[in-house]
Amino acid sequence: MACIFCQIVSGEIASEILYRDEEVVAFRDIDPRAPTHILIMPRKHVSSLAEVEDEGLIGRMVKVAKELAKQEGIAERGYRLVINCGRDGGQIIPHLHMHLLGGRHLSANMG
Ligand code: 5GP
Ligand code: ZN
Repeated sequence: MACIFCQIVSGEIASEILYRDEEVVAFRDIDPRAPTHILIMPRKHVSSLAEVEDEGLIGRMVKVAKELAKQEGIAERGYRLVINCGRDGGQIIPHLHMHLLGGRHLSANMG
């Protein structure tokens, strides 16, 4: 069975898609840690940042995140982009994704 994010990307699991292009998809986190908590990821299954072969992909994900931050009205006050990689990095879902967090003050504590 495909991974959970692959199933959301393909539409097998219904989800409100906030952004989609040939390469990148974004939707809201099911368990939001901030008023805005969006996940941005490649459509293609890449298991983690460590497996990325084309680093340009990360730049394209960042560009989408910046656009979504504007759409969400959080661009001016600020926000955080996070990619968890591997076990110590706190990655739970093994499909590369970037968290866009904002809408409240985020502590400087990186956990
Ligand atoms: P990670 O720790 O792997 O960086 O983050 C995984 C994120 O995916 C978590 O914030 C979690 O709440 C979110 N998540 C897990 N399962 C689902 C799901 O089925 N749908 C959505 N929209 N988010 C999910
Ligand atoms: Zn996947």
